[in-house]
Amino acid sequence: MNKMWKFLPILFLMTACAAPEAPVTEASAPEVAIETVDWAIAIHGGAGVIPKSMEEDRKQAYFDDLSKALTAGRDLLADGAEALDVVEQVITILEDSPLFNAGKGSVFTHDGKNELDAAIMDGRDLNCGAISGVSTVKNPISLARRVMTDSRHVFFVREGAERFADEMGVARVEPDYFFTQRRWDSLQKALENEKQAEAEKHGTVGCVVLDRAGNLAAGTSTGGMTNKRFGRVGDVPVIGAGTYAKNQTAAISCTGFGEQFIRHTVAHDVSALMEYKGMSVKEAAQEVIHSKLDTGDGGLIAVGHNGEIALVFNSAGMFRGAADANGRFDVAIWE
Ligand code: ASP
Repeated sequence: MNKMWKFLPILFLMTACAAPEAPVTEASAPEVAIETVDWAIAIHGGAGVIPKSMEEDRKQAYFDDLSKALTAGRDLLADGAEALDVVEQVITILEDSPLFNAGKGSVFTHDGKNELDAAIMDGRDLNCGAISGVSTVKNPISLARRVMTDSRHVFFVREGAERFADEMGVARVEPDYFFTQRRWDSLQKALENEKQAEAEKHGTVGCVVLDRAGNLAAGTSTGGMTNKRFGRVGDVPVIGAGTYAKNQTAAISCTGFGEQFIRHTVAHDVSALMEYKGMSVKEAAQEVIHSKLDTGDGGLIAVGHNGEIALVFNSAGMFRGAADANGRFDVAIWE
């Protein structure tokens, strides 16, 4: 059919409904829904006590790696990539960086091992996958995704997760692949003091995405906390605590003192405040981080269904970045 014919009834309706004696002014204009952006992405590289006295080249290295991950995500999204693909690829870049406490560069347990956790969630249907306590999986986020897509289950741990990695052909490495001198020294310091090595425990990574199709996805990956005891699992792979995504509300990824994020089911709470109280993603994130948690516990990144981005923390700093279809692109560490 000729295109013009298709639009004729609409044109007719518009003309018939127009009331020339009552012109639409700014004040009388019908309320326009909040503008939604085409796509949006936020990333984090951990929250905590991040000393501002950090050497310049180290600071630059953080900015470089955050920018690299954010650029990759931005380009993929602009090309129309799916939210889940973006989350996996961006987190893989951050896992491969030795700067962050995820994948290469993960912190050490009390026993001097690296035990990694990760989770991913699809906002379309609440499908999700999580793994915990793996010591030989190069990119835990990819294994979490396979749990989601290739098993009937949601959560695999330790040797079982590693066997599943073999079945799926997900890359395994020798445990010493994860070794970095900085994290080892941090454990020694923690063992001496028998308390958390505050300055070096941060660095968990996360990514939340709204893609051009309007779908949300979230992912988080971590080595956990320096000096953690055998078998300890934090918030990251616990769906609703450290990671959550639902198309109707938001995609959320958390970082900080994991036990607190589990107690307060932080990620799901943000989604619930939006769903039940009609809050915006920023309002919900502020409410949970500043009213429910204790100062210093950490922070979260979130992207709402309309592309609004929230980057909220109650600790001294949070490695983070955000970009969207309107040209936003920024990375930051402190307030
Ligand atoms: N939330 C992580 C955990 O408790 C650690 C972090 O984000 O720094 O395992």
